Amino acid sequence: MKSEHGDPMKNVLIIGGGLAGCTAARTLSGFDIPSVILESSPSLGGKVRQFGCKSGSSCSQCGVCAAGNLWDEVERDENITILLDSSLIDLRKEACGFSAYIKSGSDFIEKSFSDIVLANGFLDYASNAKTALDMDRSESILTGMDLERALYRRTASELFAEPPKKVAYVLCFGSRSVKEKANYCSRVCCGYSTRSAKVIRHYYPECEITFFYMDMQTTNALSAFMQDMNEPGIRFIRCRPARITVNGNDPEIIYEDSGVLARETFDKVILCGGIHPNSDNVTLSDLTGLRVDENGFLEYVKPPEKTHVYLAGCVSGPKSIRETVAEARDVGLRIAQISEQDGILA
Ligand SMILES: Cc1cc2nc3c(=O)[nH]c(=O)nc-3n(C[C@H](O)[C@H](O)[C@H](O)COP(=O)(O)OP(=O)(O)OC[C@H]3O[C@@H](n4cnc5c(N)ncnc54)[C@H](O)[C@@H]3O)c2cc1C
Ligand code: SF4
Ligand code: SF4
Repeated sequence: MKSEHGDPMKNVLIIGGGLAGCTAARTLSGFDIPSVILESSPSLGGKVRQFGCKSGSSCSQCGVCAAGNLWDEVERDENITILLDSSLIDLRKEACGFSAYIKSGSDFIEKSFSDIVLANGFLDYASNAKTALDMDRSESILTGMDLERALYRRTASELFAEPPKKVAYVLCFGSRSVKEKANYCSRVCCGYSTRSAKVIRHYYPECEITFFYMDMQTTNALSAFMQDMNEPGIRFIRCRPARITVNGNDPEIIYEDSGVLARETFDKVILCGGIHPNSDNVTLSDLTGLRVDENGFLEYVKPPEKTHVYLAGCVSGPKSIRETVAEARDVGLRIAQISEQDGILA
């Protein structure tokens, strides 16, 4: 692929239409570089599009509104082609770029690209996986994603259909656990759980909230938030629950307290699932030559400017919304070979 000036023409294949993929596509479009977003699901937006604002009486800086009108902008952008329900079947290196073989719905497409961006995100582990925690299922046991959807749907007067009196958060659910093959911190769940707890207290000031935790991340922002939450009706219990059963419809948590097994019933239990590697990473590693790291995320083997394969967002490990946006913009800029220092971008 050469332009009339003999320069290689840019045309980028982006795998994944979540926050990272859409941000990279819009950044590229700012340089008039066309891209194709390949999204495996029926809609754009990934996880963040399902998230709600976590403001109670004031903004908690959760970052969700950083996405702004991104999805609409991508859908309207003439430089961006969106292929939904689509997957990458094969990728071959060519003299100048790549030839990609794509399945889109029931069609097969073969197309050439100059660069590839892997932005296929992460696995919503808490909703999908069988867990090492011995646990019954109930509508009153929510995952972090369920709670995000409730925040998205909330009205001015109501977050849950029934006002809860006692809510428990189980932090580090599926993270920092050798059994769950995720011996790392997912980095975002302390933040979203403490913020959403504030929203619950905003709606239901009498609701008692208990955090079961291993230990919290020690960022200044979070320490400040925990101090802020240090008020009557909020408890922090440092232990990993042994079992969650269901009493009628109410979840009961069995946990160890000072060497003795304690049982406690709650109206709602929230499993704060973290960020687990996407199961497609192994296939994508085979197709692109990138490496799968010890936790299952993808990592570079060589500088991406040499291989023309880039990583953006949680495909390479846990990241917040702001970190995802920053990295995806950087990838777009690197592909356009223009740095922020050149002063070309605002
Ligand atoms: C419960 C929960 C709450 C969170 N709350 C916050 C918060 O309040 N603030 C914050 O800063 N961060 C939060 N995060 C982190 C936030 O979700 C991530 O930063 C963000 O989703 C990363 O975006 P992404 O595009 O990398 O991944 P994703 O959102 O996972 O998007 C990836 C996209 O790629 C698609 N895809 C996957 N595999 C393929 C494939 N093989 N081919 C094509 N498409 C594919 C997926 O369908 C999806 O659309 C939270 C995380 C969780 C789990
Ligand atoms: S979405 Fe998050 S950052 Fe935006 S206003 Fe709500 S709480 Fe604040
Ligand atoms: S961010 Fe918090 S809840 Fe999530 S794994 Fe790390 S310490 Fe546990």
